[in-house]
Amino acid sequence: MKSAFPSFPMPTFRSLKSRIAALYAALFAVVAAVLMVLVNSGIERFGEASASRDLAANARVFDEIIDLRARQMRASADVLARDFGFREAVATGDAPTIASALRSLRDRSQASAAFVVGLDGSLIGDGQTATPPLEAIWYNLDDGIEKGTLRLGGVLALAAASPIEAPELMGWLVLAAPFDEREMARLAELAAVETEAAVLGEASLTPLLADAGLGEIVEADDPARNLYHVSALPSLQEGIEPRLVLRHSMAGALAEYARLKYVLAGVALAGLALMVGLGWRIARGITGPLSTLDEAMRRFGKGEETVVRVETEDEVGRLASSFNSMFAAIAERERQIVHVGLHDELTDLPNRKLFAEQLDQALARRDDRERVLVAYCDLDDFKLVNDTLGHPAGDTLLRKVAEGLTADLGKALIARLGGDEFAVLVVVDDDQASLLPIARRIQESFDRQVDLDGYTALCSASVGIAVAPGDGENGTDLLKHADLALYRAKREGKSSFHFFEPMLDQEARRRRELELELRLAIKNGEFELYFQPLYSLAQEKLQGFEALIRWNHPTRGLVNPAEFIPLAEETGLILQIGEWVVREGCRAALAWPEALSIAINISPRQFAAPGLAATIMQALADSGLQPERLELEITESVFIADIEKTLGTLHELRDLGVRIALDDFGTGYSSLSYLRSFPFDKVKIDQTFVRDLNDKGNNAHAVIRAITTLASALGMDTLAEGVENLEQREILRREGCEFIQGYLLSRPVPAHELALLIGTEEMEGLAGVVV
Ligand code: C2E
Ligand code: MG
Ligand code: MG
Repeated sequence: MKSAFPSFPMPTFRSLKSRIAALYAALFAVVAAVLMVLVNSGIERFGEASASRDLAANARVFDEIIDLRARQMRASADVLARDFGFREAVATGDAPTIASALRSLRDRSQASAAFVVGLDGSLIGDGQTATPPLEAIWYNLDDGIEKGTLRLGGVLALAAASPIEAPELMGWLVLAAPFDEREMARLAELAAVETEAAVLGEASLTPLLADAGLGEIVEADDPARNLYHVSALPSLQEGIEPRLVLRHSMAGALAEYARLKYVLAGVALAGLALMVGLGWRIARGITGPLSTLDEAMRRFGKGEETVVRVETEDEVGRLASSFNSMFAAIAERERQIVHVGLHDELTDLPNRKLFAEQLDQALARRDDRERVLVAYCDLDDFKLVNDTLGHPAGDTLLRKVAEGLTADLGKALIARLGGDEFAVLVVVDDDQASLLPIARRIQESFDRQVDLDGYTALCSASVGIAVAPGDGENGTDLLKHADLALYRAKREGKSSFHFFEPMLDQEARRRRELELELRLAIKNGEFELYFQPLYSLAQEKLQGFEALIRWNHPTRGLVNPAEFIPLAEETGLILQIGEWVVREGCRAALAWPEALSIAINISPRQFAAPGLAATIMQALADSGLQPERLELEITESVFIADIEKTLGTLHELRDLGVRIALDDFGTGYSSLSYLRSFPFDKVKIDQTFVRDLNDKGNNAHAVIRAITTLASALGMDTLAEGVENLEQREILRREGCEFIQGYLLSRPVPAHELALLIGTEEMEGLAGVVV
């Protein structure tokens, strides 16, 4: 609970230090208290025992002293009792002489009374002092008691009797002295312990003393804690039972020990203070390093670099060094985590995040004379390497590229943005210099031969470049514009670079618009199939038609596939469009004479997508078209993907019973080798070769011949695309090409114009013209 009062800086037990010190102090206090109690009760018991002992001893001493005194008096009395004159006076009953002798004896012996008791029952005193009643003492004297206590005028007195003989007993001479206070004080002085003594008649005893047995010690319930010892004194007088009462104050006796107690208490207090101090010190010895560690922990928690000083070799010291190792390990791990978070694992280059950060910093730091160049780079045909040589080879290639870039472009910041994309950041401090050499240098840094497990891969990249100021003021814009420039570079042909221009931005916007329009076109059914005849030179007749898509754009009119197929391919819309073409193509072909087949283009994305075979089977089933009348045209680019998968799909399609043609043959990378990988039904030689036939002095003839020879050796048909004139047709026929396609026969025409071509005079006529 929180106190409503202001808190003062007083030691709280919340700290370990005060708790340890307090514990020590408390322990000591308990021990000291127990000791004090024991000592106290020990002192008490000892005091009591020794007082009792002393008191008993005193009683004996008193008895002895009293006896001694009695004997002294007896001796004094004896002298007179034996005196001849005195005896005579007694014998004669000469009272004045006796009284005079008694007075003199009394004075001499410092007694208070002296008298003669005659055997005959007479009592003669000195005439000055009191005497006891005769009958009270006579019998005792007659019994031979010679010493004892008497009561003289209300005062108890010690008396001694001496027989007076002449020679027969005539009487007794009694000498008495009172147990007065002086006498008692004198006795007390002789005692070993401070004792007060009194002789009391039994009747005057307090109830406590009256009840106490003789020789016992009783303690009075008074503040002085008096101890009493009562003993009987011999009595010479009938009717009195004299008691010697000794009193000793326990409190007084113990008072002497009180000092000892104070000393002990002082020692205990000093010990306690020492213990608190010691406990504090020990606690500080323990908690001091703990606080240091605690403080270090706190600082470490705040992210400060922390090292604890190791001062001892004990547990605390070891703990401190463990802390240090822990701090170091955590810091290192943190560094690694940060590193991992900002670097690419494979190449250890900065990742996109770090690149973006550094780019922002470079832009923020940039002064007016500086330019910041961002190059967005994408490896050409990396997928090919990955798919043909495997991912480990792809990884190796990426690592080698990264190493090469680091070595070549030392000063630039190089990052891997992901996949086969890299980025380079260069700060150019000359605002006039051309950036072309830098662009070229970056692009050429990718051009290298990389040895991958015995294969030599030719590496290259396309590079898009954006420069601040101009192409964007922030990192995001710059990167985006560099990416647009890269897109353009890729399309212009691989292994090239392209600087960003505002036009690219417009193009990109245009692409986005086009994408939207394409989606609408799919929805609104704005596509139409055109058909172009495929003509057999060998048999001189129409073999079938290739379906070529057209887009009836609501405002732009007829749009050619070259303008939208690549975007449809990029965005994946080709899947929907392609399916429509297959269905529409099959449906259209069913209306043609059975001898005519239909060729349908399958784009790479469509080919790679799962379910192509199913789509085609469904279209065949729905239309009722025989599979052998359907020819699928694929391009070499499908081989860029995983070759195993490609072959799998090809076989799957072939199993449907359809024919498969390799389109645009010769434009790819290692065309001839693809021919051997799968038994295509037809090879369509790309129109560039056909175009070249007209130019003398190139080897287009030889290329055509090579293709037709190899294809026929492999059992494949050959078709030449883009045949526009008779000369081309003749050469092709000569070089062994069996089929042709091109404007020479017909441009692609809409379905309703097909009837004119199919089996009509026109077509034959046309063929006739051609032939
Ligand atoms: P392609 O499959 O090689 O089709 C042949 C292209 O050559 C057609 O262009 C055709 O009009 C053109 N052509 C035919 N004869 C001549 C000639 O004598 N001279 C010249 N200069 N050109 C000729 P088109 O129709 O513009 O199609 C271009 C490309 O678009 C096609 O090349 C094909 O790759 C693609 N394409 C067309 N329709 C489809 C389709 O339905 N699906 C897919 N995936 N691609 C299609
Ligand atoms: Mg084609
Ligand atoms: Mg073609």
